[in-house]
Amino acid sequence: MVKKRLLLFPVLFFVLLLQANDYNTYFSDGRIRMNYTIQGNSAYQEILEHSYILEGVWGGSKANLVDTFSYGRVMLEGYDFYSNKLIYSRGYSNLFQEWQTIAEAKTTVKKFRECVLFPRPKNKVKIIIHARDSNLVFQPFFKTELDPAVFPVTSDPSKNQEYQTVHGHYPSHKALDIVFVSEGYTSDQKDKFIGDVERFRDNLFRWEPYSLYQNKINVHAVFLASEEQGVDIPGDSIWKSTWLDATFYTFGIERYMSVPDLTKVYDYLSGVPIDQLCVLINSEKYGGGGIYNFYNIFTSDNERAAFLFIHEFGHGFAGLADEYFSSEVAYEDFVRTDLEPVEPNITTLVDFAGKWASLVHDSIPVPTPDKSQYDNVIGVFEGASYQAKDVYRPARDCAMKTSTYGKFCPVCTEHIIRMIGFYSY
Ligand SMILES: [Zn+2]
Repeated sequence: MVKKRLLLFPVLFFVLLLQANDYNTYFSDGRIRMNYTIQGNSAYQEILEHSYILEGVWGGSKANLVDTFSYGRVMLEGYDFYSNKLIYSRGYSNLFQEWQTIAEAKTTVKKFRECVLFPRPKNKVKIIIHARDSNLVFQPFFKTELDPAVFPVTSDPSKNQEYQTVHGHYPSHKALDIVFVSEGYTSDQKDKFIGDVERFRDNLFRWEPYSLYQNKINVHAVFLASEEQGVDIPGDSIWKSTWLDATFYTFGIERYMSVPDLTKVYDYLSGVPIDQLCVLINSEKYGGGGIYNFYNIFTSDNERAAFLFIHEFGHGFAGLADEYFSSEVAYEDFVRTDLEPVEPNITTLVDFAGKWASLVHDSIPVPTPDKSQYDNVIGVFEGASYQAKDVYRPARDCAMKTSTYGKFCPVCTEHIIRMIGFYSY
């Protein structure tokens, strides 16, 4: 056993060395932001136009360039043009895809503005964007080529935004860089914003496993002054002139917040190392949202804001599903029970071996009764992701289920740790 372990280390080291070399071989300092307009309905999507912007700093890992999680609804891939080697990939979800699941998308075509970041390639690359089909299989829907030598990549350093690091100061490619951006704060409220960010930072570090990995995390704050305080609340006919046009009542759901144009946010982050975007809304109203590797949004001053941030960040950062199953949310057919869902913390038992089956002790019944004797075990509890039947969660309770529970279940905890490791290696 000891000999086997000794053998493993050199092999692992060699693999990691190869990955680090890939960055130096294929990429140079800086990052490319690809802005695009995506259009479609419930049945299709297409990219109408796209452009590239050269930005200051690559904040992601230089060792983990290829996505090993395959979470999310969209997958960006970059291939070296000449060798056809996959040199970068990243899974994410988007507001467009969420809109595709509501009833309106069956009868309407809509456009959304989005962007995605990748490290600056040295040579010509092929870029492919995939979306999941109805069987959750990634299918390419957009292909293009980027040749940095000839393609008109624009650079706009004038929009480089100042930022303040409120935790970390670790090298950005070896840390998870969480960036808080202000929305609905007026020019005289910068101190309030920084104080709010520090409060959310302290809250994050009160929760395991984040508390155990503070030395792998940077927290940055970017202040954008809005003309007016607050944010749009269409249901109450409240309209505010704010920097990012964030709003409540997304898809008609009062508490669901969104930013309509992601490119507008990133226009002011071009010099900021970023792995996770958090838009902090200056409001007392309850609300928020988290979309995997896209953004996290939440309000500053609601009494439940501290928990909401932790919960939404579970979606936006770790790709976790909701573990609750009674909701006003109006998505149609949210989970297909004949397929294994993508998220790591729910299962339909179609491919349970690929989820947390190895963590369930033989003595635990499947499905596991929702009784107090199973309070602290990893099991298979029916009801998750807005569905009471045929979708299962790993524990009776979890921060992805209940606001008052106070911790993540062991399966969610493990995935958060893996995700921090991905960004910080
Ligand atoms: Zn959980």
